[in-house]
Amino acid sequence: MADVSLKERLAPLQHLAGRAGRTLLDVLYPFECAGCGGSGKIICDGCAEDLAELVAPYCRVCSAYSVSEICQACAQSGRRFEGVRAPFRYEGTIRQAILALKYGGIKAAAPQLGDMLACYLQANPLPGDILAPVPMHASRRRERGYNQAELLARRVAERCGIPFQPDLLVRTRRVDAQAGMSSAVNRAANVADSVAVSQRGDVSGQRVVLVDDVATTGSTLDNCAAALKEAGAASVWCLTLAVAGNRRGGE
Ligand SMILES: [Zn+2]
Ligand SMILES: [Zn+2]
Repeated sequence: MADVSLKERLAPLQHLAGRAGRTLLDVLYPFECAGCGGSGKIICDGCAEDLAELVAPYCRVCSAYSVSEICQACAQSGRRFEGVRAPFRYEGTIRQAILALKYGGIKAAAPQLGDMLACYLQANPLPGDILAPVPMHASRRRERGYNQAELLARRVAERCGIPFQPDLLVRTRRVDAQAGMSSAVNRAANVADSVAVSQRGDVSGQRVVLVDDVATTGSTLDNCAAALKEAGAASVWCLTLAVAGNRRGGE
């Protein structure tokens, strides 16, 4: 019965206990593995072995698929960040886990995912005096109850001993959801000038590591980097769990 998840085995009990039982089980076992459905962790040990790592060839700036050393998008647009680094491609189990954290309300997935990101950073260090999350607009944060990038960044900062500035960047206006936007051009226009360095942040001469859950077109990260560079940041490296465009044709 190893292939039957704990939640399934407890399902009859849950049925009898009704709503109260379900709530209790969710407290005791908040996760089903995003890969195999087993209980206990957002990504179980077995599925963690099989996560999709980045595959070559990829752009040395943004880590998206590219046969040339620098991809067309980075060559044309001139990125304001130094680069994007990520342990995984945005697909399969890691994608499901990120979606659960981001849209499924599974806040408790953040420590494990943050630890994975911290392990990656420890093995692949980036220059960083400050670590900060990609900001979320206050109204969206109220709706979701948390900023998943901040939860991940906080964990990475703790694990790696980098000073954490959760409010370094702020969203100055709410942007539309990226998912439905048709082109990279639209996405770039959508996020342009929507980020600013907060009054409290002093980034002059500082090397900033910017954390987000996933890098898609890179336009959000680029806008954050632009604001940081304008405020005098010496460098901006982006660290994400996954990169969407790492395979030919993107995600
Ligand atoms: Zn699993
Ligand atoms: Zn690139």
